[in-house]
Amino acid sequence: MRFLGASAAALLLLGLLVLRVTSCAPAHPPGRQAPLGAADVAGPVSADCRHPGWRNAAQANANSLTTLAWAPFGRAETGWEIYVPLIQQEIRTTCPANSEGFAAALAAWQEDNAQAAADGVLSEPTFVAMKGTVQTRREFVRFTSFGGCPDTPDRITAARPEEGYGGKQVWLRPGALAAYREMVAAAKAEVPAIAEDPNSLKIFSGYRSPAADAARCQAEGNCDGIVRARCSAHRTGLAADMYVGQAPGFGPDSSADANRLHMSRTPTYRWLVANARRFGFVNYPFEPWHWEWTGEPP
Ligand SMILES: [Zn+2]
Repeated sequence: MRFLGASAAALLLLGLLVLRVTSCAPAHPPGRQAPLGAADVAGPVSADCRHPGWRNAAQANANSLTTLAWAPFGRAETGWEIYVPLIQQEIRTTCPANSEGFAAALAAWQEDNAQAAADGVLSEPTFVAMKGTVQTRREFVRFTSFGGCPDTPDRITAARPEEGYGGKQVWLRPGALAAYREMVAAAKAEVPAIAEDPNSLKIFSGYRSPAADAARCQAEGNCDGIVRARCSAHRTGLAADMYVGQAPGFGPDSSADANRLHMSRTPTYRWLVANARRFGFVNYPFEPWHWEWTGEPP
């Protein structure tokens, strides 16, 4: 009896281990605590985001904010202003990027995520680690990281004409469309500026058939770095490109840095960064307009 009990316990332990190994969630390094609550993550930050001890880090961040030469998504960029809302969300602070409070919150994140330096300075390695965390939330990225490409869905639903940007007909999986509608209603209820802009959150691309993407790639050379032709997230019916604003002279899906910077400052994008996960939507952070619903596997 006692032997059987021990065996059962061993089997249970083995099962737990297997679960742990196969889980895609980032594991916390041994000996480290789970993330702290939002209130204590950055320590006692005053209302003006002053934080003794973090002046030099704040100065370094203030300097690099518009000058850092790097390529976080493979394409050369200057500065990291575009990613400030995303970083603030991840490190759970509302303090501006050049403040001591921001540096303290970033240092806490670095500490919790086993970064080589918990110095409160935004560096390329720190951002790449953060980007990894954000990208791992995309079921599509997890799926394709094993070399596969998801099948097209069995069912897609037509959105209402007024849900498409410029009246365009778009399609999503039924669950994704329902979640999208809930999210739009909440955004408009919570932020008057979002409700007042008739284009806010309208979809300009939803489900796209792999054949159509391949044809467009061949005919127009519009291959989106061949990603579109090979395996686009839009084939799943879970991805939606939503209107989050556009800088003068640019389109709502232009990845020009000036346009992405403009988008990163709109109330719509900022609300999404803070709230979309409540509705199951996660962002591809290089494209402020591209969101994927995670309520179903790709
Ligand atoms: Zn997209």
